[in-house]
Amino acid sequence: MAILVLGGAGYIGSHTVYELIEAGRDVVVADNLLTGFREAVHPKARFYQLDIRDRGALDTLFQAEQIDGVIHFAASSQVGESMSNPLKYYDNNLYGTMVLLQAMTAHGVDKIVFSSTAATYGEPERVPILEDDRTVPTNCYGETKLSMERMMSWTSRAHGLRYVALRYFNACGAHPSGTIGEAHDPETHLIPLILQVPGGKREKISIFGDDYSTPDGTCIRDYIHVTDLAQAHILALDYLLHGGENNVFNLGNGVGFSVKQVIDVARKVTGHPIPAEICPRRAGDPAQLVASSEKAKSVLGWKPEYDSLETIVSSAWNWHKSHPNGYNT
Ligand code: UDP
Repeated sequence: MAILVLGGAGYIGSHTVYELIEAGRDVVVADNLLTGFREAVHPKARFYQLDIRDRGALDTLFQAEQIDGVIHFAASSQVGESMSNPLKYYDNNLYGTMVLLQAMTAHGVDKIVFSSTAATYGEPERVPILEDDRTVPTNCYGETKLSMERMMSWTSRAHGLRYVALRYFNACGAHPSGTIGEAHDPETHLIPLILQVPGGKREKISIFGDDYSTPDGTCIRDYIHVTDLAQAHILALDYLLHGGENNVFNLGNGVGFSVKQVIDVARKVTGHPIPAEICPRRAGDPAQLVASSEKAKSVLGWKPEYDSLETIVSSAWNWHKSHPNGYNT
């Protein structure tokens, strides 16, 4: 019996596949390679190039493989793009998930762990955020992820599907081996963009707004290492395989860092002055997102290992230094 990882050529997906293979699991990866990279797929995983919106391709895969459970990363994930092109997010994230659930239901595959996001909360009522806090997304990306959660819930009632939604805070860092890491084109995430400055690909980093109601005026986020996220997916899958009920978990370190603080840590790690420039706010950004992950720790037994931002940024720097053009080098 195999685990199917959809979006397993992407950033968090590829790291999860590495951890699954390391744990001795049989892994099938499917990815349309629009934003993922074939080179990021672990050589021991069986690979299918397909789009989850293609029902025929999913049927072929489910007929060819004995799938025990699905881990679903295949989605668009940029806040800014979701505001300028919301229908792309409805198509890829919601329609794609609908087709996937139809195929899973038809083939009797009833367990799924999937990427949700801190963006489901919108502007939080309190920090740290708990899973049953109010969810009012301020961007279309978060809206589609919340709708995916609800689609799972209704499908569960009707067809017995069991699911775990993992609400990630800010994924960052790279595999300790240096073989895989974060590579987006175009890059929009803070830490890789900062590291492009010491990497010689960018002159300065833009700070999107310094007039938020935070101590230094810049947005606060909870940065969590990708390998810790990957481990949480395996724990969540095993929880479902052992009969666990539908659930939602936050995944973060529980500590918030401002954009300015992250830039300072990167200056220390790289030894580069990293010039920064204050720019207008980016549409859809809440001021502050920090997780309470106590539920994932107590229910799943999750123990994040990378709790220092310096270690996280160092692992990202290790990858970017050796792969200045991502997988194209
Ligand atoms: N950010 C920034 N400059 C950049 C990219 C991001 O100031 O060039 C800020 C962004 O506004 C947000 C934080 O950094 O407050 C993290 O953004 P990212 O896109 O990495 O993750 P998100 O929180 O959107 O998932």
